[in-house]
Amino acid sequence: MSTYGIDLGTTYSCIARLDANGNPEVIRNNEDDSNMVASVVFFENENNVVVGQAAKENIETDGERVVQFVKREIGKPDNRVYEFDGKTYTPVEISALILTRLKNLVESQGGTIETVVITVPAYFGLEERSATKQAGELAGLNVLSLINEPTAAALSYCAREFQEDRTILVYDLGGGTFDVTIIQMTMSQNETGNDVQKINVLATDGDDRLGGKDWDDKLYDHILRACCDENGLTAQEIEAETRQDIRSKVEEAKRKLSKKQSTKVRIDVGGSRTEVSLKRADFENMTSDLVAKTMNFVDNALDKVHGVNIDTVLLVGGSTYMPMIKDAVEKKFPGKVQQHDPDQAVAKGAAIYASMLVVEENSVGKDISPVDSNGEPSTDRAEQLTAKFDVEDQTPRSFGPGVVDTKGSKHKYVLENFIKIGEKMPAVFSKTYYPLEDNQERVRLRAFENRSTEDTIIPCVDEDGNPQATDPANDVKLLGELIVNLPPQTSRNTPIKVTFKVDASGVHVEAVNTSTNEVFETFLRTGSDIDVEKSAVHQLRISAD
Ligand code: ADP
Ligand code: MG
Repeated sequence: MSTYGIDLGTTYSCIARLDANGNPEVIRNNEDDSNMVASVVFFENENNVVVGQAAKENIETDGERVVQFVKREIGKPDNRVYEFDGKTYTPVEISALILTRLKNLVESQGGTIETVVITVPAYFGLEERSATKQAGELAGLNVLSLINEPTAAALSYCAREFQEDRTILVYDLGGGTFDVTIIQMTMSQNETGNDVQKINVLATDGDDRLGGKDWDDKLYDHILRACCDENGLTAQEIEAETRQDIRSKVEEAKRKLSKKQSTKVRIDVGGSRTEVSLKRADFENMTSDLVAKTMNFVDNALDKVHGVNIDTVLLVGGSTYMPMIKDAVEKKFPGKVQQHDPDQAVAKGAAIYASMLVVEENSVGKDISPVDSNGEPSTDRAEQLTAKFDVEDQTPRSFGPGVVDTKGSKHKYVLENFIKIGEKMPAVFSKTYYPLEDNQERVRLRAFENRSTEDTIIPCVDEDGNPQATDPANDVKLLGELIVNLPPQTSRNTPIKVTFKVDASGVHVEAVNTSTNEVFETFLRTGSDIDVEKSAVHQLRISAD
């Protein structure tokens, strides 16, 4: 099948598909002798851009030409850009370079890649999600859908294990981020009588600045100090090449300590060789505060679900290979911890989900019970999975339009939340509004994202039509606007039906002029085409006269 699942990670990315037997497999990166591609881009010169391990090797010596952790920038409001050799690159474009490298992996091994599912953190808002999707499209990929990383991880684990209702805690410690997610899996039956496993996200917590890199940094400092002591130098006297040498060896040493009790690192310091011995026990001591930090986030997530009993804990992310992590989690959840290829679980789950979607698409109107054309139980894993799972994610934020409340003596600009944080996706809601004035030429329908669970937020914008800066708790963000052109002599009592639909890949806004049945759906995103200053005029109002 030419359908793939992609884990576009902060530090490492991974691409997987289902093999001929329907089992998920990762596409190997032979060049780096790894299952992963480092999410690092090195702009060597105007003709050469390098992605992966080779790019990573330039971080200390040529750092200003290296971009890493771009996932932290994607879809963020500050619209950061990078500039190399007179060309500018957005985080979306950098991410597209990483995705292109993954696509090339498949193609260089004779595969073709048609459709993909890309994973995103559960806490990503709509901007981050649509930017991720855009990066996929820019890389020439047909993005079927996005899926939350912990949901993908649970899919890859439950494809092998779970058949019954369970509450699962996903502990995902990657290279630059730590995410805890509590997921509920429930079995039910669909209309055709097949078992369906639903996946709901109950709570998320974590830190997007905590990950394997912090363990690397501790080891780096330790080795640098040892080199200084051995050679009677200060840290400033250590050359950049030596620092790069330490930097390149740190991660490998850390990985070795996951397998062995001790290892050695040899560093060339000003012509003389310094050998540093590392013991796992020492490494565990110097990083115990980091482990404790992750466990605090686990407690926070547990607090949010008020003592729900956790049945299973899944370890996800490359950093959970460190025995100290498994030990700490085991101690808190004795007998409940599962770990299986933790750095590949997300990509594999995405591959499973992608093939489920393709099967679903191909079987529209057909009975999708897991039997083959002869009526025998199907051996096609993807078909079995379709019958078995129904992924139900929740909206990461609340969404709604900004409209004018004309009821009081003074007009108020309010945000009406159509869809609230935590609702099941896809979520759809419609409501009818009216132009503010007679003969209004157009309506600027503005869509907002926020964290409030209220029906209405007042006021949601300041006098210039920008999201209220004094309301940080609700984190109101303008997503963009839809222009609804009205024919001449439109009355102010003409009903305009506004619909918001939210699914894992974004928010879709639609307006219908119910007197002409004209449909408007061209959504202008903030930061690109939208002129905020003009946007405060030509509003919709809540009630008719
Ligand atoms: P991402 O954060 O991009 O999702 P991963 O889940 O692949 O990435 O995790 C990458 C992190 O896992 C890196 O910090 C890497 O050094 C670490 N890692 C990978 N394998 C091991 C190992 N065997 N022992 C310790 N750390 C590891
Ligand atoms: Mg990850």
